Amino acid sequence: MKRAAFVYSEGQLDYKFSETHPFNQKRLVLTANLLRSIDALPDSAIVEPRVATDEELALIHDERYIEIVKKAGNGEVDQIVAENYGIGTEDTPIFPHMHEASAQLVGGTLTAVDEVMEGRARRAVNLGGGLHHGFRGKASGFCVYNDSSVAIRYMQEKYGARVLYIDTDAHHGDGVQWSFYDDPDVCTVSIHETGRYLFPGTGSITERGSGQGYGTSFNFPVDAFTEDDSFLEVYRTSVREIAEFFKPDVILTQNGADAHYFDPLTHLHSTMRTYREIPKVAMELAEQYCGGRWIAVGGGGYDIWRVVPRAWSLIWLTMNEAEIPEGPLPEKWLARYGPESPVPLMPHWEDPDPLYKPIPRKPEIEEKNRLMMEKALHIIRSEKKE
Ligand SMILES: [Zn+2]
Repeated sequence: MKRAAFVYSEGQLDYKFSETHPFNQKRLVLTANLLRSIDALPDSAIVEPRVATDEELALIHDERYIEIVKKAGNGEVDQIVAENYGIGTEDTPIFPHMHEASAQLVGGTLTAVDEVMEGRARRAVNLGGGLHHGFRGKASGFCVYNDSSVAIRYMQEKYGARVLYIDTDAHHGDGVQWSFYDDPDVCTVSIHETGRYLFPGTGSITERGSGQGYGTSFNFPVDAFTEDDSFLEVYRTSVREIAEFFKPDVILTQNGADAHYFDPLTHLHSTMRTYREIPKVAMELAEQYCGGRWIAVGGGGYDIWRVVPRAWSLIWLTMNEAEIPEGPLPEKWLARYGPESPVPLMPHWEDPDPLYKPIPRKPEIEEKNRLMMEKALHIIRSEKKE
């Protein structure tokens, strides 16, 4: 069995709204080439993503919606009709062959799932996936089909697995949460910037699941300007307690890299310290509870030059139990992409310390996040005492 499989093909770059849209899969090439430049991504580790079938998409999505997406990609849907399905909007514009491109990202996550669940690889990553805002019958927030939701349902049906989904994107993982809100065999955890000022606005601690699924949906909305220490405190404590409580068979992590200080769309102040730690803890939990089974997908991440390639490389290196690099980035990669990047590239694997001017409200934000976490975890902690 391989330690890890890297699901990737340049076809994943076909998921492209426009030249200027912030969602830019060029970050996949930048990441793969950063890994290649340190000899960490041999061709033998790469697995071609398959394309999800309509039947697989329909595990989550309405057939009518799938039809509309297909037609929109061929220019056959009116603007007004399209907008009813969340496409043709400013966030999620129509682009040629959008169905095929979107189905390929879902297929990539299904490929990663099969690699792990059929025992060919202990872990797998599909950085092209992570489209956590996709709804059953509607696109939202740059996401057409929701690969994680489809993959979770697929793991339930094909492998009978109990799935723990952990989402550390700066935005609430709403699409995945609502897909399994009443399902006690799927546990969704989202740590994100509070929805007070940020899309999609949901993800409060009171969203705990419904019916049979009450108590298997967890939200940790951290304050704007949250820094590494507090983000990591919330992350480590919450996912450890939840994994212990839920006892999953497999862990799926959504690794949006938009909580970084440089990210242009959010207001969190994470640095590379956070992105070194996130995959490490995910892997520990998978080893402890799931016989190692861990699937990671990408997600948000809009500073594609300075943040995403470094952050996502660390997921792959962690999965391979490789030494986590420190110091300068490879000269070859910097020389290749420096001239193309609109901002000076970061020269090291780590961010400089400090990366930004200290925030006077730091202790206040930390305390607020801690209280929020205590409240969100109260439901498991009180059950334990009984
Ligand atoms: Zn995001």
